[in-house]
Amino acid sequence: MAKKDYYEVLGVSRNASDTELKKAYRRAAQKYHPDRNPDDAEAEEMFKACKEAYEVLSDARKRAAYDQFGHAGVDPSMGGGGGPGAGGFGGASFSDIFGDVFGDIFGGGGGRGGQRVYRGADLRYNLELTLEEAVRGTTVKIRVPTYVSCKSCGGTGAKKGTRPTTCTTCGGHGQVRMQQGFFSVQQTCPRCNGTGTIVSDPCTECHGEGRIREQKTLSVKVPAGVDTGDRIRLANEGEAGENGGPPGDLYVQIHVKEHPIFKREDSHLYCEVPISFTTAALGGELEVPTLDGRVMLKIPPETQTGKLFRMRGKGIKPVRGGPVGDLLCRVVVETPVHLSSRQKELLRELDATMQGNGRHSPQHHSWLDGVKKFFENMKL
Ligand SMILES: [Zn+2]
Ligand SMILES: [Zn+2]
Repeated sequence: MAKKDYYEVLGVSRNASDTELKKAYRRAAQKYHPDRNPDDAEAEEMFKACKEAYEVLSDARKRAAYDQFGHAGVDPSMGGGGGPGAGGFGGASFSDIFGDVFGDIFGGGGGRGGQRVYRGADLRYNLELTLEEAVRGTTVKIRVPTYVSCKSCGGTGAKKGTRPTTCTTCGGHGQVRMQQGFFSVQQTCPRCNGTGTIVSDPCTECHGEGRIREQKTLSVKVPAGVDTGDRIRLANEGEAGENGGPPGDLYVQIHVKEHPIFKREDSHLYCEVPISFTTAALGGELEVPTLDGRVMLKIPPETQTGKLFRMRGKGIKPVRGGPVGDLLCRVVVETPVHLSSRQKELLRELDATMQGNGRHSPQHHSWLDGVKKFFENMKL
């Protein structure tokens, strides 16, 4: 059976945000959950497919690989857990599933009365580069508005010298069970908002949040050869977690600005070079720009407009390795303008010598034949 597109499985667009993905998956997981669809093989298939799609798309690196290479780029069997084989999901409970959905919620961990800690949010920074910077690589300083852990309270949110107390409503679990029809559903504790603790005496620095908004200055090393759409991941440089949870990651999204001369296509560069019709007819040498200076380009006699000249190895070294690309110069023959009457006279003289046969216009005959055929076909 052909594998379905992960985005299609979840019913989201290809540029869906992490939040949209999470929402879509939560919806699908609830709809197709085996507890709700006992003995329904189709629902179970869908459930597994959604789980797999979410596992890939929620992981920035796997998602990038999937976007680039499709199913071949990601190996779902690496996910662990689920187990291939019989495909019995009987053992999975709702909370297991939601453990997957909210991968950013870390269970109580050791000690501290089951306090819930949350991984900080991932951040995204759009970085504009010139083509030269992208090709050569660079180091840029960026300023990112983010949350950092509050130093005064060590991230607990409680005033110096005090400690958060365990929430009595949920007993520190952060979740309360509610009966809804046949189901017993877990909900975030409304009193402590899922943290499992109550801060009665909040820290004055962070107002009990445990983290503070701050502009962080970071130095980002951009490797040579990056292109628009590439992302650089800075582990742990995202927002600080809540209640001392681990920080998120920062993704620097590369955008390469248009260049006045060169157009880039993967590892190749393209540029247009105007040449005079005399050079085109008689041949000559031309100075053309490359990213590392000027080089001479030989124009053979009788060069037609639009001809592409390939200069091997004068393109870009791709960031993921592979051969250096080429520079492709397209020559455009220019019609002379602002001619003096003497120049016009010379041109007419030249033209007179070329009348009578088409041997000076290589395209002329085939073009005339094409036109003739065109009119013949019209009469049919
Ligand atoms: Zn604080
Ligand atoms: Zn609570």
